[in-house]
Amino acid sequence: MNLKRLEFTLTTKCNSQCIHCQACASPLGNEVMQVKDAHNYLTEAVAVSRLKSFMIFGGEPMLYPDRTITIFKKAKALKIPEIEMLTNGVWGKDKQKAEKLAKKLKEAGLNTIGISVDAFHLPHIPLDYPRNAAQALLEAGIEKVTWNVALVESLNAANKYDDETRRLLEMLKPVRIAAHFTKIMPVGRALQNLRQYFTPMSLEGPCGGESVIGNVLKNPESICIEPSGEVEVCWHLAIGNTKKKPLGRIISEYEWRRNPTIKILVEKGPMGLLESVDKQFRKTQYVDKCHLCIEIRKNFSAS
Ligand code: SF4
Ligand code: SF4
Repeated sequence: MNLKRLEFTLTTKCNSQCIHCQACASPLGNEVMQVKDAHNYLTEAVAVSRLKSFMIFGGEPMLYPDRTITIFKKAKALKIPEIEMLTNGVWGKDKQKAEKLAKKLKEAGLNTIGISVDAFHLPHIPLDYPRNAAQALLEAGIEKVTWNVALVESLNAANKYDDETRRLLEMLKPVRIAAHFTKIMPVGRALQNLRQYFTPMSLEGPCGGESVIGNVLKNPESICIEPSGEVEVCWHLAIGNTKKKPLGRIISEYEWRRNPTIKILVEKGPMGLLESVDKQFRKTQYVDKCHLCIEIRKNFSAS
């Protein structure tokens, strides 16, 4: 595997419970990655690859600021060029505390940050919090600070969520930072709460690759490690578990043909997985290939 990017789901816990959350994070989430494990993963990944970027997200990583900062320091010591975090900005509630935290994050090596702002976060996180967080980060000298914006359709769409998001971005214009837009996928709570907004797509054909960062199963360049130790190349698609096999070996021994689930997904796509499950299947139940893929894999034992 020619690994270029490493991601950690630091925690499944979040102060928020957004209706679109694809990770299904909430205040009830109780999994957190241990610092010792995180340090080992970074060391092992760097030993077998030339990592260009490292990201921590969640849940909300800044519910554990000391842990997050300690892990960033390790990534900096290992000379990973891009050190990134995705946060909802809740830690900007108190301006002075936010300024102190932003300085610590800068010193720890953080150079890229996405702050989530959209219609889905607003009911849980007042706009002042991410605004204060962004301003503190800019003042601390973090190189790349962007709004991370989830859209149902597009920024010009007429639905009530994208409409509200457009209004929020107007209000945030004085902060003068760019926005990075991602289209919400039919995964997790988004599927339960926003189903009517997803246009049904063809279920036929091989897996075309994960759309957010463009990972492809034949040669994934990015992996995400969960607090449980699961090492994933796509939504809930594990290629091993660090509690059973060292991460360095999981990375260096990866070969898509040896993983029965991934072989089927590459050659036949999610419809190919259907042959291996004993489950009533109605095509109309599924929005797209990824929805079908994730649902079938819940019942699939070949991996
Ligand atoms: S803030 Fe992010 S992680 Fe938390 S519930 Fe909302 S989308 Fe999920
Ligand atoms: S969810 Fe399945 S079909 Fe979709 S990109 Fe991931 S592996 Fe491919």
